[in-house]
Formats: sequence, structure tokens, C-alpha cells
Amino acid sequence: MCDNKFVRERLYEDYAQSFTVSDLLFEVKTEHQHLEIFETPFLGRVMLLDGVVQTTEKDEFIYHEMMVHVPMFTHPNPKRVLIIGGGDGGILREVLRHEGVEHVTQVEIDQSVIDMCKEYFPKHSDGAYDNPKATIVIADGKDFMASCTDKFDVIISDSTDPIGPGEVLFTSDFYADEKKCLNEGGIMVAQNGVPFMQGDEVTNTYQRLSKLYNEASFYIMPVPTYAGGFMTLAWATDDESLRQQSVEQIQARYDSAGFATRYYNPEVHVASYALPNYIRVLMTK
Ligand code: SAM
Repeated sequence: MCDNKFVRERLYEDYAQSFTVSDLLFEVKTEHQHLEIFETPFLGRVMLLDGVVQTTEKDEFIYHEMMVHVPMFTHPNPKRVLIIGGGDGGILREVLRHEGVEHVTQVEIDQSVIDMCKEYFPKHSDGAYDNPKATIVIADGKDFMASCTDKFDVIISDSTDPIGPGEVLFTSDFYADEKKCLNEGGIMVAQNGVPFMQGDEVTNTYQRLSKLYNEASFYIMPVPTYAGGFMTLAWATDDESLRQQSVEQIQARYDSAGFATRYYNPEVHVASYALPNYIRVLMTK
């Protein structure tokens, strides 16, 4: 039982964030990582993997809406979607709000993350794991991708950082395997860290993706508990026209989708492609 003590996340050598916790709800060393779930007065429930904040009840909507709806409203008609990671269920929830989606495959390495997030963060998946359109595969995303013969319109890699089990999901081999499984006109997006703190992730990802795709770039949004300013999501496609679509074109799809969002809207969607110079310069290193 924690009596209003602080938990400190020290993802970086010389910088940490901390927050008050009121209770440790669950903790386990799984086969892959250290999983902790806290109750907190300010952020609601918070999950850490290997001591790194993965998701909070308070700000998960920002990350999950932007990671999903930017590619899903950019693609003219996404039917088949692949999610790598995403064990808390937020990405799956948002993907399944798109009525046109016929099938979603989610490949998560750690069953415990799914099980514990279903129990402690029920609103994250909000029943998505029981949706007949969803197939959940418990495997290392790298192994799945290497042997995958299926094809997808959108691939979303919602992994941990490139330390621990997530590291293999940031390699050229993985990106090449992913590309083999994208349909023509397909889009790949991936969690790519906070460039103010993890600039090398932008540099490395850009170098690797730009060798494989006609268009490799990033888009951004601020996620308060991913400390350090804008979070980058990697973007890759062979159809450079996709990101040229107007706000009006995106708006038409958003309006016909008919669901409400708390962060995402078509203006924010298109604006998220605009990268500040300190991020752009990381792509040219
Ligand atoms: N939104 C978070 C972020 O930006 O850091 C990520 C959240 S989600 C909980 C990350 C998921 O990636 C976890 O469930 C973890 O188990 C999963 N994961 C890590 N490495 C993986 C791998 N190699 N294959 C499949 N899933 C993996």
C-alpha cells in the first residue's frame, strides 16, 4: 500500500519525472518485462513497463487517437489493419471505431499486459478484445513480421521504446519485413519517442525508412506523460499523394465516420505533419 508517495520515472540519465501514487494495484515480472500498475490522484491509473510510463487514464486519448486516426483517415478505405504491440488495447479500440475495417490483427508479445490492462484499464480496450473482427496473436512482432504472408492497408507499431523487447521493432530488417506486408497505397506508422530527449530515434528511423519507402517522415502531438515536449510518430508510405490531401478531404471522411474524438480533428491531423526545425534537423544528420 503506498501512502501518497511519489513514483519516479527515470527514462533518461539526467532527467526524470515523478508523480504521486495512492496505491500499487498490480506488479509482476513477466517473461518479458517488469509490469507495474498504480492508482494516482492526478493521472488516474498508470502503467509502467520496465519503469517507463506506457499509458495513463488521463492522457491516453491523445496518443491513441493520433496514432490511429491520422493513418486511418488518410487512407481512402482501410479494411485490413495490423497492430504490433498495443497491449493496453487503446489502439485496437480506436481502429475498430472505423466501420469500414473488416479485420484487425494485433501481435502482442506479452499476454500479461493484455490481461492486466483488461482488468485495470477496462476503458482502454472498451470491449475491443472481444470484437469478432479482431485476431490477437501472442508473439514477438519481429518473428510474426518475418513469416507473415498476409497484407494490410495500415500497420501500426505501438511498441515500447527501443530498449528491451521493443528494440527489435526499430531495425531495418523489421521495417523491411513490414513493408512486404503492406498493400499498394498502404501506410505504416510507429511510436518513435520524444525527440527533445531521444533525438537519435528520429535520425535512425528516418535513415532506415527512407531507404525503403518513397515517403518517410513523422507527425507529432504532445502527450503530457511522455516527458519532453512533442512525441513523434514515424510515417512511411509509397504513395506520397496521401499526405497532400486537404483538410476538407479528411473532414469528409471524419464526418461520415460519425464518431466523436477528444484530441483528433482534421485540422489537427493535417497540422501534425508540420515539424519544428529541431525535429527536421534530426532527419538530416
Ligand atoms: N504507448 C506506449 C508508448 O508510446 O511507449 C506503448 C504502449 S503498449 C503498452 C507497448 C506494448 O509493446 C507492450 O504491450 C509490450 O508488451 C509490447 N511489445 C514490446 N516489444 C514487443 C515485441 N517485440 N513484439 C510485440 N509486442 C511488443
